[in-house]
Amino acid sequence: MTKISPQFAEDLKQYGEDTALECFNCGTCVAICPLIDGSFPRKLIRYVQIGAKDRILLNRNELWKCLHCGLCSESCPRGADPGGILLSLKRYAVASWRKS
Ligand code: SF4
Ligand code: SF4
Repeated sequence: MTKISPQFAEDLKQYGEDTALECFNCGTCVAICPLIDGSFPRKLIRYVQIGAKDRILLNRNELWKCLHCGLCSESCPRGADPGGILLSLKRYAVASWRKS
């Protein structure tokens, strides 16, 4: 069962910026991302919003697909920064791996 950590979006700030709580799940970033890969990156942002840390770690390989091209961040109507969130999640995933 997925454990929910409501404070995770705040906790993620120690790994860089976190604008996940700005996201209202419009899907613009999914449409503009050159990877054209399912619901990437919105799904991961949603996981941050609800604090589904185990889902993030389960899907951590997806994080390394991001090219950090910036298109999603430029296009987000809420001023969220999906690319920046993914970078913070990479740092979080590496830190979690080191602790395990
Ligand atoms: S474009 Fe912005 S608001 Fe829309 S789903 Fe992506 S991060 Fe969320
Ligand atoms: S920064 Fe990453 S998630 Fe955003 S559009 Fe580029 S490849 Fe996709």
